[in-house]
Amino acid sequence: MSAQDHGSRDLPRDPHEHDTQDAPRDRDAQDIPRDPREHDTRDIPREHEVKELVAAAGVPVPRGVVVRDLDFAAAGELAEPLVLKAFGPGLVHKSEAGAVRLGLRADGLAAAAAEMRSRLDVEGFLVEEQAPAGVELIVGLVGDPGFGPVLLAGLGGVWTEAMRDTALRLCPISEPDARLMLDELRGAALLHGHRGHPPVDVDAVVKLLMTVGGPGGLWERLELGEFELNPVIATPSGVTAVDARHLPGRPPRPSATREPADFLPLFEPRAVAVVGASASRPNFGNMFLDFYRAAGVPLVAVHPSAAEVAGVPAVPSLAAADVDYALVAVPAERCAEVVRQASGIPYVQVMSGGFGEAGRADLERDLAAAARAAGTRLLGPNCMGVYCPRGRQTFVGGGVGPAGTVALISQSGGLAGEVIKVGERRGLAFSRVVTVGNAADVTPAELLSWLARDPETRAVGLYLEDPRGGRELHEALRAAGLPVALLVGGRSSQGQRAALSHTGGMVSDLRVWAAVAAQTGTALVSSQDDLIGVLAFFQAHGSRVTDGDRVLVIGPSGGAGVLAADAFDRAGVRLAPLPDGVLHGLGLAAAGNPLEVPVGPRGRPGLVPEVIGAIVRREPYADVVAHVNVQSFFTYGDAAEPLYAYARALAAAQEALPRVRITLVTRNGECAPAGVEDEVRRIAAAAGVPVYRSMEAAAAAVAAGGSRGTA
Ligand code: ADP
Ligand code: MG
Repeated sequence: MSAQDHGSRDLPRDPHEHDTQDAPRDRDAQDIPRDPREHDTRDIPREHEVKELVAAAGVPVPRGVVVRDLDFAAAGELAEPLVLKAFGPGLVHKSEAGAVRLGLRADGLAAAAAEMRSRLDVEGFLVEEQAPAGVELIVGLVGDPGFGPVLLAGLGGVWTEAMRDTALRLCPISEPDARLMLDELRGAALLHGHRGHPPVDVDAVVKLLMTVGGPGGLWERLELGEFELNPVIATPSGVTAVDARHLPGRPPRPSATREPADFLPLFEPRAVAVVGASASRPNFGNMFLDFYRAAGVPLVAVHPSAAEVAGVPAVPSLAAADVDYALVAVPAERCAEVVRQASGIPYVQVMSGGFGEAGRADLERDLAAAARAAGTRLLGPNCMGVYCPRGRQTFVGGGVGPAGTVALISQSGGLAGEVIKVGERRGLAFSRVVTVGNAADVTPAELLSWLARDPETRAVGLYLEDPRGGRELHEALRAAGLPVALLVGGRSSQGQRAALSHTGGMVSDLRVWAAVAAQTGTALVSSQDDLIGVLAFFQAHGSRVTDGDRVLVIGPSGGAGVLAADAFDRAGVRLAPLPDGVLHGLGLAAAGNPLEVPVGPRGRPGLVPEVIGAIVRREPYADVVAHVNVQSFFTYGDAAEPLYAYARALAAAQEALPRVRITLVTRNGECAPAGVEDEVRRIAAAAGVPVYRSMEAAAAAVAAGGSRGTA
């Protein structure tokens, strides 16, 4: 910036006079537990210093001068009206302290300054030109403990608190990210010329966002903590950052880089050892011996004295086991000792709990150190393990299901078990499932990177609860190149962080996860049911190339169509109206989207496919969602055959239209006799048509598949 320092740098001040307790605080931050990194406001850089830094990086700031006594002669070169701002220890939120005066003339500066001095502990003044009014924005950076540097943009100035209208992205952002951030704001219309106001220079706003959060931007140079420009005044002729604040924090710890692991032996071990099964009192270890026996993988038990455990040959120590994978189910205190013997075994899974999650971070550290010392990789602790039909790996009873193309990484073993069992019931076939528990060594990010390159895997589901390692995960998601569905648990519990700036208080884990999803093209889902449904969609339609992003909904009953439109709307998918005249000659009454077409026990099964064909020949639709009222087939008919005939006709339509993704919704399926829905699903699946039992589930899947619809 053009501020020059006039006057003495060392006005006398008592360093003990103002500590943080006296500093004005963010109103919102008052009820929030203070962060241990809390800043001593005496040491934070002054506004003019931060402005110099950002101006050097290319951020436009007002012309100004710094005055440390009451001689304002140097301000004579500035164009009126002028702004006077006092700075000093504890003056963080200047307006609240009465340390900002706008609209001054040069001859009014001295009196205004003297008045501030009479009330405040002032070290000096910044006098600057007053920027013309415009739309006030906030642009900030926050160092998130899990996700690293996060850029925030939103409505700023007086709107910051009232509207809390902001968008987030992880740094570095791309230019399309910057534009999407602005589009996401509820107040986006203000930028584009609202109620007679001219539109602001959006390109200048985008350029500013790139300067702060783009490749090589300020985010790389600032020692992260919190940084914000609030407000940035945007007008038709550009942007000006009229306030700048930087609260340095701890620079992020560089994450340890290691050789990318080959996880194949984890999923497809030559043989497996189980440590902790009992020769006398069956326990968890014994249950796993049963699971493994059912799966048929070569197996050995580790037991100090027995020659066999439950019919499985035993060796006295892991050191004597020639396996690729060892499952350890002994009390937490003894796990490290067992793992130390695992030298030569590439993967050890610790199933036992009682580590970090139970307040024993020390035991977890010992365990990770033992794994490092043995040269083995550790899965868990506190995890169920791995499921891979191809590798005869399992942690669920009842043998393994069919081998397929869908992978799952889960922080919760229980949830993974449910997704496997329910998913297979609904037609999913897994390539590899891995639970990570406390992830003391092997992380979700590392697994995702490997799975993304695994030829057997075409789509990945993730269930996570913990934003630790979020930055690595973000990188892995960005590089993944295959469809990923993400379910995050516990999003509401954390996230409130103490903050002296607005930026920090507005960054919650929920919003950062959403930013990660938006930025990496990951489908963020909100329930286990949707995770399974979206994975089923990916399995059926994953690699299909489509011609457009339009969505057509077609089926019986006007009311169901109206509700379908609402369900898709909630999922963020807009149903575009049908093109004019597209139904000509098909004998249908009303042309709309959702399109009402009779489907029932006495109807012609080929009618809907015919209509679909006629429409997509005219207009590219990416997705067609056909729904059917199953109940009507058994109320007005008494056999399943007409329903099957309809499913077969739809399957044939999918085969005939490879560039359209057809999805079937079987409404009111509980009215069908047992087994009928399964048969419908089987017929549809053979042609790659996924089936859902509700419009909501189908809408979530179509949205995850990337169709936003067009209006
Ligand atoms: P605070 O520490 O309270 O955030 P600011 O420096 O942001 O203080 O000033 C408070 C308000 O005064 C800003 O939100 C903005 O509306 C206005 N303001 C400050 N500096 C200028 C300037 N140079 N030009 C125009 N308006 C300004
Ligand atoms: Mg401000």
